[in-house]
Amino acid sequence: MKMITRHVGFIPGPVNVGVIRTDKQAILVDTGLDDQSAKKIIAAMNEAKLEIIGILNTHAHADHYGGNARIRNSFKSMQFIYAPAIEEAVIRHPILEPVYLFGANPIAQLRGKFLMGKSSPAEPLPSPSLPFDDLSIQAISLPGHSINQVGYVCENVFFCADAIFPEGIIEKYGLLYCFDVASQLNTLRSLKNPLPYKMIVPSHAHPRQNISSLVEKNISHMEEITSAILDLISVPKTSEAITKLLCIHQKIPMKSIWQYYLHLNTVKAYLAALLKEEKVSAFVENASLVWVRK
Ligand SMILES: [Zn+2]
Repeated sequence: MKMITRHVGFIPGPVNVGVIRTDKQAILVDTGLDDQSAKKIIAAMNEAKLEIIGILNTHAHADHYGGNARIRNSFKSMQFIYAPAIEEAVIRHPILEPVYLFGANPIAQLRGKFLMGKSSPAEPLPSPSLPFDDLSIQAISLPGHSINQVGYVCENVFFCADAIFPEGIIEKYGLLYCFDVASQLNTLRSLKNPLPYKMIVPSHAHPRQNISSLVEKNISHMEEITSAILDLISVPKTSEAITKLLCIHQKIPMKSIWQYYLHLNTVKAYLAALLKEEKVSAFVENASLVWVRK
């Protein structure tokens, strides 16, 4: 565990897990992907002689809540697991993620641990401001990457979840999962100006004092995808054809069925935003739903 301020630190990993602590108790921000991640967190807590009293999840992607169940069962001191509204329902019923990605009873390939974490109890955040001993934890709304994602701030340390991704991840994957493009761009713009925080901890990048260049890179990535999609639909195409050509042209890897669904649904998020802005139209032709640039 690395401390940033007296009471706030994190456990570095594929997903950084936030720790807000007093002398004897701790609240976690997210819990990693699975039992393995939970074991690592439990070991760090035992070493620091801390009892976990609560979990604050940022959003309901499996790599952020998959360790909840194991941690909850390992600490008698546990009092609550909170997540933003709707996200909390997915944490209680992890099948909902493959359900919304597939749109019907999901096939086995969408039921792996990356899309479906272990179920755990979770309640909607009771308030955007949570007291913990003498500390105060604020939830900050960061929708877009997922329907109702939030970040958490304590002692001026901001856990900003998946609102931004580091350059290496943008380059490696070429297309970042997004649920709502307009919300995600608004979220990124809200993070653009100098932020009043001492340190910002993204889930998938090193903590840093300034994220403005990273925010710019995330925005320009989204603008690049938007214009690439627009270029592809000077003639009408289905969302599947757009996804295929976008991945080929932008060299976006697609190695599995679940990756296919993440990409396809992200393309749909871009198309929905363009439709709302009246830059494209959608209609049914020859028994296909097609999209075309206006
Ligand atoms: Zn996520």
